[in-house]
Amino acid sequence: KDDPVAREEFLKVMAEQAERMSKLVSDLLSLSKIEMNAVSRPESKVDLLRVIRAEKQHFEWACKQKNVSIRLKLSDSLPPTKGEDEELAQVVRNLVGNAIKYTNQDTEVVLTAKLTSDLPQDPLFRNLTRAIYFGVQDQGDGIPKEHIPRLTERFYRVDSARTRKVGGTGLGLAIVKHILNRHRGIMTIDSEVGVGSTFGVYLPVYD
Ligand code: ATP
Ligand code: MG
Repeated sequence: KDDPVAREEFLKVMAEQAERMSKLVSDLLSLSKIEMNAVSRPESKVDLLRVIRAEKQHFEWACKQKNVSIRLKLSDSLPPTKGEDEELAQVVRNLVGNAIKYTNQDTEVVLTAKLTSDLPQDPLFRNLTRAIYFGVQDQGDGIPKEHIPRLTERFYRVDSARTRKVGGTGLGLAIVKHILNRHRGIMTIDSEVGVGSTFGVYLPVYD
C-alpha cells in the first residue's frame, strides 16, 4: 500500500483480473439466457448485412494491433434472415473476434455473406432449398483435426502456445452453437494446420 511502484503494478493486475471475471460472468449469463429460450425459435426479420457491417466497426482497434485487415465479400443484397438481431450480432462478434485473435500478424480476415443453395448435409436442412451463408476465414495456425469436434464445448480451448498467450474463457463458440440451435442454423468448421480456418454459418431465410 505504501510502495507506489508496487501499488501501480498490483492495481493493473487487479483491473485485468476484474475485467476477465466480468467477461466470464457475462458470457455465462448470456449462455443461460440463450438456453432458457432454447425451445422458442426467434421469428423476426434480421438484416444480416447490416449486422456484419456494424460489428466490423468494433474490431478496428484489435485489427490495428496486429495489422490485420478485414475484407468484406458481401452480396449487394440478401433476403432477411429469420432470427434475433442481438443474438446474431453475438455470433458475428464471436467468430470475427476469434479470427482476429488467432490469425497471424499482417494477414487478412475475409467475411463472406451470400444466399446459397449449396447446403450442408444435415437433417435440419432436408426440406430447405436455400439458406444464408456467413463465412469467416482467417490465416492463422489452423486447428488440428482431433480438436474440431470439441471446440463448441464449454471452456474447451486448444492448448497451443498461441491460445495460451492470447487468453480467453472458451465460452465463445459454445454461445455460438446455442444461438444457432435456437435459430435452426448450422455451423461448419474447416481448418488446415499451417494455412488457416474457415468458420461457416448457415441460417434460414425469412420467407
Ligand atoms: P472466449 O470465451 O473469450 O471466446 P476462446 O476464444 O478461447 O475464449 P472459443 O471462442 O470458444 O473460446 O474458442 C475455443 C477454442 O477454439 C479457442 O481457445 C481456440 O483454441 C480455438 N479456436 C477458435 N477459433 C479459432 C480460430 N479462428 N483459429 C484457431 N483456433 C481457434
Ligand atoms: Mg472466442
